[in-house]
Amino acid sequence: MKIPAYEEDAYRTELETVVGEVGVEDGQPFAVLEDTVLYPEGGGQPFDHGALGETAVTEVRQVEGTIRHYLEEAVELGPVVVTLDWERRYDHMQQHTAQHLLSAVAADRFGWTTTSFHLGLERSDIELDVESIADVELEELEELVLAQVRAARPVVARRLSADEYAALDVRSRGLPPGHEGDVRLVEIEGVDVTTCGGTHLRSTAEIESLKLLAIEKMRGGTRLYWVAGGRVRRLLAAYEHRAAQLRRLFETSDADLVEVAAAKLERLRDSGRELRAMEAGLAEALATLLAAAQGRVVETHLEGSGASLLRQTARRLAEQAPEKIALLTASGDSGEFFVVAAGKQAGIDVAAVGKTVAGLLEGRGGGSGSLFQGKAGSLSARPAALAALADVVG
Ligand SMILES: [Zn+2]
Repeated sequence: MKIPAYEEDAYRTELETVVGEVGVEDGQPFAVLEDTVLYPEGGGQPFDHGALGETAVTEVRQVEGTIRHYLEEAVELGPVVVTLDWERRYDHMQQHTAQHLLSAVAADRFGWTTTSFHLGLERSDIELDVESIADVELEELEELVLAQVRAARPVVARRLSADEYAALDVRSRGLPPGHEGDVRLVEIEGVDVTTCGGTHLRSTAEIESLKLLAIEKMRGGTRLYWVAGGRVRRLLAAYEHRAAQLRRLFETSDADLVEVAAAKLERLRDSGRELRAMEAGLAEALATLLAAAQGRVVETHLEGSGASLLRQTARRLAEQAPEKIALLTASGDSGEFFVVAAGKQAGIDVAAVGKTVAGLLEGRGGGSGSLFQGKAGSLSARPAALAALADVVG
C-alpha cells in the first residue's frame, strides 16, 4: 500500500488528488481519495478536520483498509484538492509528540510504563503503571522533559520490514492485532524509539513547553494530566483572565486572594448563624402574639419573609397554644408562601384542610400531622382561606 501523504510529510497542508470512491454510511456521505493529507484517528491522536474543495470534512477514519473522509455533503468522483485544518492538526502534533517524550522520560528515569494516552479537548493524560507519584518526582519529570525540549532533538520516522523490526529491541505498546507488512518507527534522537503511525513534530523544540497539571489514582496505576505546546499559553491566559475577575470582585491582589475570599466566606457563615438566631427569636415572639390572640383561628401575614420563618412560627405556636389553628402567609423575593398549622388539641385533619387552602390560593404544597406548607399562586383569596378554616372549626 502506498504511504499516505500525511505520513510522508506531516507538515503538508494541501494536496491535489482524485476522489476514487464515494458512498453513504449511516446517512453521512463519505469519499475515499487516491491519497490524503488528513490523518485518520489512531494511536490516541484524534482525526483531522479539513475540506475537499469547498466541502468540509468532519471526520476521517480507517475502514476496511481505506480512509473514509466523512463529509458535510456529497462530492463527485474526479480531481479534487484536499486541504488540512492546520491549527487543529498542529495542536495534535504538539500534544502527541509531547506524549512520546513524556512517556520516554517517565520510563527511562523512573521505570514507569505508559499504558494509555488520551488527547483531550483541553488537557491530555497518560496512564502510568505506578501506584503513586510524589510531588518531587513530578517536578523532576517535568524538568527533564523540558530539558529535552530545549535540546531541540530531531524527531524522525522510518519504516522497517517485519523481520527488521523483530531484530530490534524497541519499546512499544505492541503492534495492533493482525498487523501486516511494514512497521513504522518514530525516533526522538538520543531519547526514544517507538512504533507509531501518527503525525509528529520535526523537533522537540516545537513542543514549546509542557506543564504537568495533576495526578489521579486509578485502578492499577496513576493518571497524569498535562498540557503542551500552544495550550500552555492558552491555559495561562484563561487562568489570568479568571484571576483578574476575582481580583476585581474581591478588590485585592493575587497574593491575598485566597485569604480575602476565605475571610469573606467566614463572615458569610457568621452572618448566616446570626440570621438563623434572629429568625428563631422572631418566630418565638410571633407565636407568643398569636397564642394570645382571640379565637381558635389565628392568622398573620409577613411581608418580605420566606417559608422558613413561617414554619418556625407555626411550630412554636403549636407548642405554645396546641388548641389553635393558624393560617400564616408570607411574600418575599422567592415568592408567596403559606402554612396551615394546628396543635395536638385542635382536633382537625391538617393535611385535608391544607389541601383545601392550597386550592383556594392557587398553589401546591404538602404536609401532615401539625403542619401543611406550600407555595401560593396568589394570596388574593386569603380571606376565603380563612373562612374555610373557620368552617372546619364550626
Ligand atoms: Zn506517535
